[in-house]
Amino acid sequence: MPDFDPKQIAAPSGHFIGGRLTPGEPVIDVLRPSDCQPMGGIPDASDDLVDQAVNDAHSSWRASGWGTRSPRERARVLLRWADLIDRHADELARLEAVSSTRPISEARTFDVPFTSDCIRFFAECADKFGGDALPTRQDSLGFVVPEPYGVVAAIAPWNFPLSMASWKCGPALAAGNALVLKPSEMTPFSILRVAELAIEAGVPAGVFNVVQGRGQSAGAALVRHPLIGKVSFTGSTHTGAAIMSNAAQHGTKPVTLELGGKSPQIVFDDAGDIDALAQRILRGFTSNAGQACVSGTRLIVQRGIADRLIDAVIAKAAALEPGPTWRESTRFAPIISEAQATRIDAAVQDSIASGAHALCGGEYFDTAGKGFYYRPTLLAGVDRDSRAVREEIFGPVLTVQTFDDEDEALSLADHPTYGLAAGVHTQDIGRALRAMRRIQAGTVWINRFGRTYDFIIPTGGFKGSGIGKDLGREAFEANFRYKAVLIDF
Ligand code: NAD
Repeated sequence: MPDFDPKQIAAPSGHFIGGRLTPGEPVIDVLRPSDCQPMGGIPDASDDLVDQAVNDAHSSWRASGWGTRSPRERARVLLRWADLIDRHADELARLEAVSSTRPISEARTFDVPFTSDCIRFFAECADKFGGDALPTRQDSLGFVVPEPYGVVAAIAPWNFPLSMASWKCGPALAAGNALVLKPSEMTPFSILRVAELAIEAGVPAGVFNVVQGRGQSAGAALVRHPLIGKVSFTGSTHTGAAIMSNAAQHGTKPVTLELGGKSPQIVFDDAGDIDALAQRILRGFTSNAGQACVSGTRLIVQRGIADRLIDAVIAKAAALEPGPTWRESTRFAPIISEAQATRIDAAVQDSIASGAHALCGGEYFDTAGKGFYYRPTLLAGVDRDSRAVREEIFGPVLTVQTFDDEDEALSLADHPTYGLAAGVHTQDIGRALRAMRRIQAGTVWINRFGRTYDFIIPTGGFKGSGIGKDLGREAFEANFRYKAVLIDF
């Protein structure tokens, strides 16, 4: 495929309410991350606008009977939506690439097909999972009836705009809810086009809505709205806490929180081929330039292979060339914004000032003022108190710690705040499973690192990395409330 011209990509704008684009004054400028040029603007939804969107969603949900129609009918509509997304894959991949950090090659092969397949997975859940009959006394019958909440609020981050939105839309709509989604103000566009396709597929107007705006205004107004029955959030741990508190104060609504991480990659001496391992470690912390919640940002490696593995990772890191997301050959993504790039560099420089040393990287690529690209960085000389080990940096930064035995490895892997994911690399299955049991994380990958298209595998964090699950049967079931019924006869 040839590179494409970003200027030819028109960004839809406004909110999406009642089944159509709803204009609003574009008060938030949105930049293309690849070169920081303006891409358009979006409104910042006022309390009144959020109120209108949620009320509209609620009355459309009632009037359309979306929550009461047969699950198979809902599934059919959602499957059509997924097919339409596939049919517009090229257009969506370009829009996603220009307006986010996702290189076009990945937007086309991962983000867009992941989005449609995720919706398909949840469409297929619609008539597969329901309530249970319960073992009660012989002269009674007890059972649990799942019911949709009504209107679910979803708040999404910027790092994988479409696929993160699909984690929310798929289960909420398949379970029979209406949805009001607020994308990140930095990546607001691609979901608008996907929303138009939802209507074309037959999702009733008003059942899927998008409101635009800043988190503290539009996002907070959405969370506290009285007709919101449940909140599903993906973003930072700090924001997750604010949302949980807001939801608690305004109706004690249930929340699902997919939050930050600081995931360890534990590599034992017997883990196998160094080159393959180095590639896995590299991908684990440089995919999307490290702007991924599950990034494997802490390498914990056994002393016997540490030097060879680290050298191999450094060699591969040196070969990564940054480039704009609309270039076909780009494999290394830009940083989303100047503010995020500054945060990454500050965390690196601060760690170096407190005793760490950079084995490679530790600085920006020189891109002549066009966008912000940070060199893959390995930091050694760190301990569990170093800022680079403690904090989620959300950039291509890997800390390196060595160990002698299993106990030490697992003790280093344990993080005081986060527990999102972990990688364990060893050919000894007993050791791998012992580690799996002891690691406090919502996902443990053994001899691999990163998510797959296995939507049945739930994702979610322990500790400060979150509450509840996205994906899997768990995410579908979390979009219902459960009514217990007991009949005496
Ligand atoms: P963020 O927390 O800054 O923002 C996420 C969303 O929340 C945005 O839409 C933002 O506008 C909104 N928001 C901000 N303040 C709000 C408030 N007070 N009330 C309501 N909404 C508010 O996160 P980000 O910078 O967009 O994304 C990066 C973070 O997301 C990282 O910490 C990353 O680890 C996390 N993340 C987690 C997962 C996961 O599955 N666990 C997946 C992707 C990203």
